[in-house]
Amino acid sequence: MKMFILLFLPFLLLASEARFLRWGSGETYLQFLHKYHLPSKPLYYNLSNSNQQAIDEIRQGVHYQILFGAHKDVEQVLIPISDELQIHIIKTKKSATFKLIPINSITKQEGFVITVKNSPYNDIIKDTHSKKLAQLFIDSFKKSINFKRDIHKGDKIVMVYDQKYRFGRPFSMPELKAAMIQTGKTKHYVFDYNGRYYNAKGHQIQGFIFIRPVKGGWISSTFSLRRWQPILHIYRPHFGIDYAVVVGTPIHAAASGRIIYAGWMRGYGNVIKIANGDGYVTLYAHQKHFKRGIKVGKYVKQGQVIGYVGVTGLSTGPHLHFGVYRYGRAINPQLVVQKATKHLRGKTKRRFLAYEHKMDIKLHYYLANNIAPTKLQPFKPVFYVNSSNIQPQHSQSYPPPVPQKHSGVKIVL
Ligand SMILES: [Zn+2]
Repeated sequence: MKMFILLFLPFLLLASEARFLRWGSGETYLQFLHKYHLPSKPLYYNLSNSNQQAIDEIRQGVHYQILFGAHKDVEQVLIPISDELQIHIIKTKKSATFKLIPINSITKQEGFVITVKNSPYNDIIKDTHSKKLAQLFIDSFKKSINFKRDIHKGDKIVMVYDQKYRFGRPFSMPELKAAMIQTGKTKHYVFDYNGRYYNAKGHQIQGFIFIRPVKGGWISSTFSLRRWQPILHIYRPHFGIDYAVVVGTPIHAAASGRIIYAGWMRGYGNVIKIANGDGYVTLYAHQKHFKRGIKVGKYVKQGQVIGYVGVTGLSTGPHLHFGVYRYGRAINPQLVVQKATKHLRGKTKRRFLAYEHKMDIKLHYYLANNIAPTKLQPFKPVFYVNSSNIQPQHSQSYPPPVPQKHSGVKIVL
């Protein structure tokens, strides 16, 4: 055994190594660069506005990868900033580059039926091994069902959802499409449509709707998860919408909630983040200053003034950058900021009914065939794969990833 290790030691020392790590809570990007001896000028201070804002999107706990060279020096880094884009750092002896590149994944629509034995939450975890699915189910029904009173042993639960996969493993939060509880002869439905929960009649069953966080002005920039800039050949995402208004305009909480961040970010300037419940977080950036008394942990009511519009951070002019996140995923605020209407009408209602009809067929397909969940495998880090094993997972309209010259080892894109 000793002999074996000694024989392999030289190879191990010379080999490149890819490490799969988690972004620590409170860790800043500058600290990260410092820790791995990466130059902060090309990789931070000299970056464009949109790249610096991308850095502000790095989430605590996100899995990222580092490829170390033979001499334990960092050669490449991949840090996801959303489900679709990741930061790609390439470091050579002479240079260091920063780029946003796509994350390759495929999305499958899945579904299942389970029979309630204990409680919906515990039963879903037991049968699917997914806390995320259990959480989605509870969130979707908690406003319309009393779990203790209305659900009994033997009731059926059906869920239809989209799940992203990378390298054959689930990746990111599943996206609920529809769910149903059959209790006795009664069926209760929830449809997740454009980021909101609706019942079978097209009535929103969430406890709140978002209001526009500033009065007046206009939308100067819309939302995009993966905007491709064809002239510069770069990705320039925009994880929110910009309301162009004058400096000093009061900013209102779009929905009630608890302040989870009130401080400085380089790209976003003075930022407040509010956890609004049901998996939602709202973000208000480039503020001149916060309203007095606003601090982390404080509860604010919908409409309450939290701060004032400014040009802090990397901002081209006075505006409020407003972001909405659901289960950590940036969504288009324009989908959820509505005039006070909880019932769908007209064209929107007709579209919803078509969606509902499609989902209803799926729910009943799973129910009629009693299709059990396929158990999710716990995510295992893919340390590295041989470059010859990499197959494109689906056809891509964006440019292919940067080819990497490396002997045998390739970091996973
Ligand atoms: Zn913006």
